[in-house]
Amino acid sequence: MTAGRYLTLDDVDPGGLRVLVRSDLNVPLDAGAVDDDFRIVSALPTLERLVEAGAAVTVCSHLGRPEGVDPALSLGVVAERMDQISSLDVALERPADITVLENTRFNPGETLNSAEYAEELADGFDLFVQDAFGSVHRAHASTVGVAERVRSVAGPLLDKELKALGRFLSEPEVPYVVVLGGAKVSDKLAVIENLLPKVDAMLIGGGMCFTLLAAKGVEVGGSLLEEKMIERVRPLVEGSDREKIILPSDIVVATEFSADAAVEVVGAKQMEPGQIGLDIGPETSLLFAGVIRTAESVFWNGPMGVFEFASARSGTEAVARAMAETSAFSAVGGGDSAAALRELGLETHVSHLSTGGGASLELLEGRELPGVAVLERWLL
Ligand code: ADP
Ligand code: MG
Repeated sequence: MTAGRYLTLDDVDPGGLRVLVRSDLNVPLDAGAVDDDFRIVSALPTLERLVEAGAAVTVCSHLGRPEGVDPALSLGVVAERMDQISSLDVALERPADITVLENTRFNPGETLNSAEYAEELADGFDLFVQDAFGSVHRAHASTVGVAERVRSVAGPLLDKELKALGRFLSEPEVPYVVVLGGAKVSDKLAVIENLLPKVDAMLIGGGMCFTLLAAKGVEVGGSLLEEKMIERVRPLVEGSDREKIILPSDIVVATEFSADAAVEVVGAKQMEPGQIGLDIGPETSLLFAGVIRTAESVFWNGPMGVFEFASARSGTEAVARAMAETSAFSAVGGGDSAAALRELGLETHVSHLSTGGGASLELLEGRELPGVAVLERWLL
């Protein structure tokens, strides 16, 4: 179902073809410059392989969430970085070994999956290569619309991601543990609901743990909290799978949300109204690391705390180290989790470092990924 059925680049000869590739070049920017090029470095081998095979290669991607044309989110800086890294000539919107199209989200038809924009994208191409794992959970013009119009295959990076993460779907080795953190509370609370029945244990830190603690009647002070979600998660913390959910027993708190605020460690049930939870505490870090080390399959998404603050980095660091040390099949997804792992120099110590955050979670939930499902029509 979710892993999908599709042809890959091994099934076609792209020589002499005009090929459009959808890559995931949605990289974090800092002051207009590429802040982390992991996705660029991951995308390039597919593009280079196509050029070497004699294809005329054009690549498209979105970058950020522009509403219409926004020069600050031009793919120009990305094309420049690609050109620096690759021995090939890479350029934005002009003929080159690899031609980069401008940000697909500059066109409102992208997220609407409009027929007009899908046709504009498809126009003049003989083959479409879907290689943007981080975007296939969205039914957009550059993921679904174009693949309905041009013969399409899965690219090697997409195929690798689906195969690696597919190990969590069909009878994963047990204990199967998922570690969740980060900030996108409402998105990820749905993930908890869908994943909980499938796992043996779910370790929850980061911003979302406070909504679950609140559902258990615990005071969470000024911590990140999604009040509207409290009722929704109550069945999880009271239901038959409640023992699988492992919440922090201690929390690093401060009275201000800032990098230089003084922090202290308090019991998770002893937080006071003026306190803000910034990280899981040391006792929780030890507990989480222990569970990760005894797992056989483990997936991690989302930092355990505000790791941008030196005072709130320990929990994320402990989880990253345990992910690197465990002998389990270990995978990490999510931009910030991947960045934390890379900052610690541990990125090669996990079994799989995914380029996709939301997409990896939706895959593990067992949801169909529209950008993968659409490829099936080209099997025959
Ligand atoms: P990923 O990119 O790995 O999917 P998210 O984008 O969901 O992760 O979350 C990353 C963000 O979560 C970080 O910027 C981090 O500061 C924030 N975060 C983690 N814990 C907390 C917390 N306790 N309070 C507020 N923000 C948090
Ligand atoms: Mg993020």
